[in-house]
Amino acid sequence: MYCKKCGAELPQDAVFCPQCGTSVGGGKAPRENFKKNLYRSSRNKMISGVCGGIAEYFGIDPTLVRLGLVLLTALGGAGVLAYIILAIVVPSDEA
Ligand SMILES: [Zn+2]
Repeated sequence: MYCKKCGAELPQDAVFCPQCGTSVGGGKAPRENFKKNLYRSSRNKMISGVCGGIAEYFGIDPTLVRLGLVLLTALGGAGVLAYIILAIVVPSDEA
């Protein structure tokens, strides 16, 4: 492949042109190698990101996860325990 801006020849997996630094769209999308793992989310974060991480993992609304946890807590406190365990066990997605 070639750089669209300066025409330099680029390696197949190039993300940026080494000549002019232009971002080359032809490379592999970073998400292509994305492995689905449960992480505490740094994007959908209220307390530790556990609810957001679970929501991202299952592709659901983080609010629903939080609501479920609140209901669990209201029904006997299991939600708090589950939350604490998850906050400890599940790694953060922050590098
Ligand atoms: Zn270039």
